[in-house]
Amino acid sequence: MTVEAHKETLSFQAEVSQVLNLVIRSLYSNKEIFLRELISNASDAAEKLRFEALTDDALYEGDAELRIRVSFDKDANTLTIGDNGIGMSRQEVTETIGSIASSGTKKFLESMTGDASKDNALIGQFGVGFYSAFIVADKVTLTTRRAGLGAEHGVRWESTGEGEYSIETIDKPSRGTEVTLHLKDDEGEFAAGYRLRGIIGKFSDHIAIPIEMLEEVYGEEAEKKEPQWEQVNKGTALWQRNKADITDEEYNEFYKHIGHDFQDPLLHIHNRVEGTNEYTALLYVPSRAPFDLWDREQKHGVKLYVRRVFIMDEADKLMPNYLRFIKGVVDADDLPLNVSREILQHNRKIDTIRSANTKRVLGELERLAKEDEAKYAEFWQQFGQVLKEGPVEDFANREKIAALLRFASTQGEGDKQNVSLDTYIERMQEGQEKIYYITADSLAAAKHSPHLEVFKKKNVEVLLLTDRVDEWLMSHLNEYKDNHFQSVAKGELDLGKLADEEADKEAVEKAAEEHKSVLEQIKQGLGDEVKDVRVTSRLVDSPACLVVEDHDMSANLARVLKQVGQDAPMPKPIMEINVEHPLLQRLEAEQDDERFKELARLLFDQALLAEGGQLEDPAGFVHRMNKLMLSMAN
Ligand code: ADP
Ligand code: MG
Repeated sequence: MTVEAHKETLSFQAEVSQVLNLVIRSLYSNKEIFLRELISNASDAAEKLRFEALTDDALYEGDAELRIRVSFDKDANTLTIGDNGIGMSRQEVTETIGSIASSGTKKFLESMTGDASKDNALIGQFGVGFYSAFIVADKVTLTTRRAGLGAEHGVRWESTGEGEYSIETIDKPSRGTEVTLHLKDDEGEFAAGYRLRGIIGKFSDHIAIPIEMLEEVYGEEAEKKEPQWEQVNKGTALWQRNKADITDEEYNEFYKHIGHDFQDPLLHIHNRVEGTNEYTALLYVPSRAPFDLWDREQKHGVKLYVRRVFIMDEADKLMPNYLRFIKGVVDADDLPLNVSREILQHNRKIDTIRSANTKRVLGELERLAKEDEAKYAEFWQQFGQVLKEGPVEDFANREKIAALLRFASTQGEGDKQNVSLDTYIERMQEGQEKIYYITADSLAAAKHSPHLEVFKKKNVEVLLLTDRVDEWLMSHLNEYKDNHFQSVAKGELDLGKLADEEADKEAVEKAAEEHKSVLEQIKQGLGDEVKDVRVTSRLVDSPACLVVEDHDMSANLARVLKQVGQDAPMPKPIMEINVEHPLLQRLEAEQDDERFKELARLLFDQALLAEGGQLEDPAGFVHRMNKLMLSMAN
């Protein structure tokens, strides 16, 4: 007997108990899904065995017929889901059933509201499969043995789902796992053949491993012969079937199995590719972002099969990073069965599959955007931020991806990101040559920025970019359909051939001449703070604003970088002055040198504040402000 053989009683990780309670509460109205989850696990286990046995035949232990068996005992009120798959070692049981490995779990739990209708949706983002057994059971017994280990390495795990579980080493001649649910008193309906067959037909028909139940024999028949096991699911890989024969429900249920999701997907894309590189791809766009979408460790969701044999989960080479939310299956005919992650890195066939997958998904999203705006808006809300990584990562598809982007805008609806670049271009003013945008760290800051004043006056639309990824995006997106992007806070204002542009330019030149000396004086007063002080045509109501040169990092980006702890040097701004503003006349009239300097400094600080910047010396600002207020009182 090994040291581990003793029976231990252990506590669940605190998070597990929490998840358990949530699952039971949130999913009760849909309780029959527990069977789908347990069958899904059994099927995964069978596929894992088949894969490992490719290199180690002995794991089959002389029995290569993989199957899942569902049985019940009406009198004992129990239900058992058994498989002859890979099984688990004692350590694996503790690690996978007693704890939740993911680092994102805590964050996920914090996002729970306690309101079942909302949490239900959240639960859907989180794989809680095994625990769903406790929706209908008040005790669950799991016995398992890993394929290839001796019979003495069996494990028995048991829990009532109330914070503790017991685990002991047992003798188990057969490999694989049996999960026995001791049904709650009022859940006896699940210890009935027709009910179970119904659920399997509804949820698990697509499982590619045979699911067997004992035949139902009645009356005289029952006296005569022992019931035999019979297959109750179709048992062919769903993606291999003819598209025309697959219902939406079947597609959806299959998605839930492979996507470890509880909700229907937004859409699916199913293709069989013939020719030199033959494969089938069944890809899904989920309807909700997973809770770990931003987790760098996040696993990709496309599974790789080779000729129906499961090879690996999370095959991150099958989709680009910016489409990491796509789930599905790629089943390739022409790859070796012993393909490894390393081989995938440099495989031409995989590269072809990946670029075709990318085109298909982008094409399908394009179609969705055209045909169903509301549904596309849902998609954008969930995954838009990730898609914005696209133009940076995927140069070749830059324009295609750009067409899928949606922005908030000065002519959009409130804070909704629903303006496409094509819509923007349609609405461009006569003579407008550029796509204008502003970046800021909040929508309010963007909307009220002084930089927008002239655009409002001339009725020129400006895109309002407030997501962190936007700066990165804009640094890689130079043009769309021959229209250049232009930040409204960068460079010399250039409104192209907009109606009165010539006249405006002349006016600026004239004003620059007229106010030359005060501009020079302001520049001297501000010293090192500014690169230059010049007359603006950007402003209508504000006295001054700050801009940077075209090739400089934007002030907003410098701020974002600072927030994330990177020390980016603030670009030195150019201060632009609105010579029509009475404050300029006030400055020009100022005789006292010291006072002039302070007023110039206030003007600068104001401009920085107005664009959402932070003052280097807030106390100094307050001090100057107070001084000014006092001087008004006198
Ligand atoms: P998921 O299936 O999303 O990983 P589950 O809660 O359904 O989450 O299962 C947790 C883990 O427990 C699985 O990943 C697997 O490692 C293990 N497991 C569950 N059921 C079985 C089974 N029948 N055979 C082998 N391992 C299993
Ligand atoms: Mg599962």
